[in-house]
Amino acid sequence: MAKQIAILGSTGSIGRNALRVIDALGPGYAIIALSAHSNVKLLAEQIRRYKPKFVAVTNSDYVAQLRELVDDLDVEIFTGPDGLTEIAKLEEVDVVLTAVVGAAGLPAVLAAAKRGKQLAVANKEPLVVAGELLVSEAKKNGGTILPVDSEHSAIFQAMQSGTRDEVNKIILTASGGPFRGATIEDIRNVTLEQALAHPVWDMGPKITVDSASMMNKAFEIIEARWLFDMPVDKIEVLIHPESIVHSLVEFVDGSVIAQLGEPDMCLPIQYALTYPQRIAGITRHLRLGQISKLTFEKPDFQTFRALPLAYEVARMGGAAAAVFNAANEAAVEEFLAGKIEFVTIVELIEHCLDKHDVNTSASLEELLDADAWARKEVRTKVYKSISAQKNL
Ligand code: NDP
Ligand code: MG
Repeated sequence: MAKQIAILGSTGSIGRNALRVIDALGPGYAIIALSAHSNVKLLAEQIRRYKPKFVAVTNSDYVAQLRELVDDLDVEIFTGPDGLTEIAKLEEVDVVLTAVVGAAGLPAVLAAAKRGKQLAVANKEPLVVAGELLVSEAKKNGGTILPVDSEHSAIFQAMQSGTRDEVNKIILTASGGPFRGATIEDIRNVTLEQALAHPVWDMGPKITVDSASMMNKAFEIIEARWLFDMPVDKIEVLIHPESIVHSLVEFVDGSVIAQLGEPDMCLPIQYALTYPQRIAGITRHLRLGQISKLTFEKPDFQTFRALPLAYEVARMGGAAAAVFNAANEAAVEEFLAGKIEFVTIVELIEHCLDKHDVNTSASLEELLDADAWARKEVRTKVYKSISAQKNL
């Protein structure tokens, strides 16, 4: 019987790659459900090709358009934000691959964890916001959480060389993004176009901006903290511009085990689907002889303030990570809309962390309240500053 896979966010960068991977894996893997937010034209093409029984369109404005595009096909359509949760908890679904962007994926991944599904997690924001809750629900209900993020897939693979108690530290690699080597002054006037020009990875716009600000790596520190049950003082970041060494684990005896590969998300996506097996796939194999050198450098905590903030946020606990994530999501939205400068993103996040009473519990309700508060706070600050500028 084929593994029945639901892809949440099949129209995105990870979602499209996941479909290519599953295509190549053959008859042992089947698509049972897909989801899109607004790109229903692509979703309709995917429905014709992969014939899922169920789909979700989370932005209700696009549902009528999808119905028209697929009215000759037998597919059940769930709608609105809850649609994602509906497909994640379907009895027929074995594996949920989470590839939507942002904390919007949290209710669905939580529902899947509560039903003990096998989770292949690309969508890191829910793990940042509610990692403790997600991991404990998955554990309690017999589910598994397998990482798709390339660094975490590397760590997961390296971890198989020893026990958790034998781990000395985790070393997360980072390409450094488009502004590697820049000073605070240099990044003050960068444009949206520059921030979106990632030197190695071709990804969706939000994570590309997060990579430029190093917020992506900041999130990955917290993601690793929950996925591998490691305190953050045992998690380090190392800049590695070539993005060949995807991350490393240092064991107590001094051995460092790394996973290497081409910078191609198809490999970690595939491993999360086929684990514990390894299957020949579509990723180009690494030819180390053709790579003249691999380089490493320390990250710059002064220019990229997201990094030290991640450690502070992790130590604060409570709803701090929910504020951290939501303030970033709202600020990146404003940056993508051309309303704020690049450096304002981290300033808005710091403002929210300072202003929020983070001494809350980490219950789902408190996390969602903190998330909503931070988004509103960012929008209000941006609106006020734009209004003030107009009055000048
Ligand atoms: P994209 O922007 O390319 O795709 C996002 C997907 O989510 C699309 O299917 C989009 O639908 C859907 N979506 C957007 N907004 C919502 C919403 N409010 N509710 C539900 N669905 C929504 O993102 P990526 O594929 O680049 O990234 C997806 C996730 O994977 C992110 O969390 C990212 O951090 C993580 N990740 C990505 C990597 C990459 O290489 N891209 C690497 C490692 C992690 P539509 O297009 O129809 O509007
Ligand atoms: Mg990553």
